[in-house]
Amino acid sequence: MSPIKSKMSANSASTGRLPKIKGINEVGRYAIGVQWIDGHDSIFPLESLRRRCPCNECGGEVAGVIAPDHQRLMQLSRLGESGMYLGWADGHETLYTTGQLREICRCAYCAGEPEKPITGG
Ligand SMILES: [Zn+2]
Ligand SMILES: [Zn+2]
Repeated sequence: MSPIKSKMSANSASTGRLPKIKGINEVGRYAIGVQWIDGHDSIFPLESLRRRCPCNECGGEVAGVIAPDHQRLMQLSRLGESGMYLGWADGHETLYTTGQLREICRCAYCAGEPEKPITGG
């Protein structure tokens, strides 16, 4: 009897190693910029952030028109390196993890065009 232990080598490099947030800033009045430790640079329109709100109520997809109040930001906080908190004018609260933020990112890198410089609106 020679028991052979086949170890599944965890080679999935992308899972379990989420990018971390380096900084957050407001971009104009209608967007938020997120700088990442890996050099990535994202700009999220507030409307998109509200529309993709991952809370139980919204479920990551808000249909229809988003009222102006619902896309006006009252509070913006970085949750360490791994998340972001958004407080809206209508009292709604949104928490994004870094994974969720990168999923909705539409920057040149995520669009698969790393050559293209990111143009600010
Ligand atoms: Zn929500
Ligand atoms: Zn991106």
